[in-house]
This record gives sequence, structure tokens and C-alpha cells, in this order.
Amino acid sequence: MKIINNADLSHLTTIKIGGRCHTLAFPETEEDIRYLINLSRDKDMPVYILGRGSNTIFGSIKGVVINMSRLRSTPIIKEGNNHIEVTLKGGNPLSDLINISAEKNTDGVYRLYGFPATVGGAVSMNAGAYGYEISKSLKRIKFITWEGITEEAEVSDLYFGYRKSPFPHLGVVTEVTFELHPSATSVKEEIAKIKTDRIKKQPINMPTSGSTFKNPKEAPAGLLLEKSGVKGLRRGNVMFSRKHANFLINLGGGTFEDAVYLIKMAVEIVKNETGIVLEEEVRLVEDSGADGWKIL
Ligand SMILES: Cc1cc2nc3c(=O)[nH]c(=O)nc-3n(C[C@H](O)[C@H](O)[C@H](O)COP(=O)(O)OP(=O)(O)OC[C@H]3O[C@@H](n4cnc5c(N)ncnc54)[C@H](O)[C@@H]3O)c2cc1C
Repeated sequence: MKIINNADLSHLTTIKIGGRCHTLAFPETEEDIRYLINLSRDKDMPVYILGRGSNTIFGSIKGVVINMSRLRSTPIIKEGNNHIEVTLKGGNPLSDLINISAEKNTDGVYRLYGFPATVGGAVSMNAGAYGYEISKSLKRIKFITWEGITEEAEVSDLYFGYRKSPFPHLGVVTEVTFELHPSATSVKEEIAKIKTDRIKKQPINMPTSGSTFKNPKEAPAGLLLEKSGVKGLRRGNVMFSRKHANFLINLGGGTFEDAVYLIKMAVEIVKNETGIVLEEEVRLVEDSGADGWKIL
């Protein structure tokens, strides 16, 4: 397994912001993950599980970052009675699942087209778009607990909510089985529409971490931010996109401090303008290392 000490984290997030961590590891097997869990506990260092970093902004961490990108394998497809089951590793790109969905013309997961995510990251965030959440297609999840035990759970035994799941607090997602059902419409055509829509509405050609805030029940966060004048708000080289107010973008060399400052400022502005307190969707990960072993 590849392990780097004092590693730069900026290239591991889609917004390209990050300080350094004490240890960066790329496990290839479940055994590697168990070893890293034990290592971080023995050394009393905080630990962060990283997928593609498309919902993560790093500061500096005196801890262990476990990059899941090498825990992947060829997807296993089982044909069922009017459905298919697809099993992938936690570090597989989400696009592997979406490609299968397009080829087999199945409903649901294709709506997440374009997310630069891993399977484990999407499950952990209960990622969603266009009225769909990934938990709707889940069947079974295999994970390693923070005690290092491999467990398997049916989705009906786990709680998923809006951008909420039991992970990573329950453990590291290592394998996921999805149940996909036929779509009544052409999935390839639907994907083409989603692609056009995203290019039109989102700054996907820029380094970004997607939606900064969750949508409160009152209105979409993007609309609240836009109405409150947050579009284009900038500090240093980090800015709330003029194309979509809920997307923070890095104009080049942006820092964690700039991102955190802007996020706090946006919360204040929206609260003053609308009375609504926005909640972060993006994971702001920083640790002084003073707090001992914990899951970030
Ligand atoms: C251009 C763009 C558009 C986006 N659009 C959307 C959208 O429409 N809807 C949406 O929901 N999101 C969207 N996102 C955000 C992001 O793609 C999703 O949240 C995605 O699911 C995160 O996956 P990841 O692998 O990058 O996770 P990371 O950012 O690496 O991690 C996210 C969380 O998951 C945990 N995690 C990661 N892997 C595992 C694992 N194997 N086991 C346990 N925990 C794990 C991490 O610890 C962290 O808490 C967008 C992002 C971008 C850049």
C-alpha cells in the first residue's frame, strides 16, 4: 500500500484546496484499511476517509487521510427477475455504476450523472439530484467498523436522510450492492439532458466542491444566496460562482481560510436578509491534532 508522510492534500479535492496531512494512505485491500484504523488509533491521530474529494475542503490535519481510490474492482452484475444487482467497491468511481445504468437502461442512479464521486462517498453523503437520492437504489452495504470488524447490512436496517447516512461514523464503506430497475424512458437521452442542464447552470469547468449548503425546507440554498447578494462574493481567490450562487469556486491558489471565511460570511448575510440559517453540505476538514483519535 502506498503511504506518504507530510502529504499535500490540495490535488485530492475537486476544488483543489488543501493543506497537508501527517499521513496519506491508499489502501488496496480490506486488510490495509484495518491496518490504517489500528495505526491511527495507536498513534492517537484523527482519521478522515476520502473518496474523490468532491464534497471536501481540506485545511491541515495532523492525522491520517485514507484515500479510497485504489479500493476498486470490476463491477459484478447479476441479472434478476425484472431488475439487476450491481456490486462495486467503495473506491470505484460512481461513473462505473452510471455507465452500467445507461447500458442496461435502468432508472434512478443515472440522475447522478456528472458527479465526480466514488461509490462510498456518494453513499456516505446520500448524494442526490433531480428528485432522486442514491439510498433509493441501495440493497446491501459492506463496511469495516472503527473496531476493525467487517460487517454487512441491508439498507432497510440503516437510516438515510437528506444528505445524511450512518457513514463514515459507522465505518468505512468497502462494498455496495445496488438494485436497479428498468426505466420507461431512454436513459442515454435523459443523461444527455442532464449534461446540458448542468453545463448551463453550474460552473463545472472550474475547480469546485459542488453545493456549499444544503437546501433548507423554505427554498433552494442557491436562490436564498442569490437573493441575498452572495453571487460573486470573493475573498482572495475563492468566490461564490456568478453562475450558481451555491457553488464555491477556486480561481487559482485559493486557501482553506478564504473558503471558511466566505462560508461564514454567507451564512450571516442570508440570516440577516431572510432569517434562515443555512447548513453546510460541504465537509470542511481541519484538525489541530490536539483532540486525539476521532473520525473526522
Ligand atoms: C461539480 C459538482 C457537482 C455536484 N453536484 C452534486 C449534486 O447535484 N448533488 C449532490 O448530492 N452532490 C453533488 N456534488 C457533491 C459530491 O459530488 C457528492 O457529495 C459526492 O457524493 C461525494 O463523493 P466523494 O467520493 O467525492 O466524497 P468525498 O468528498 O471524498 O467525501 C464526502 C464524505 O463521504 C465520506 N466518505 C467517502 N468515502 C467513504 C467511504 N468509502 N466510507 C465511508 N465514508 C466515506 C467522507 O469521509 C466525507 O464525509 C457535486 C460536486 C461537484 C464537484
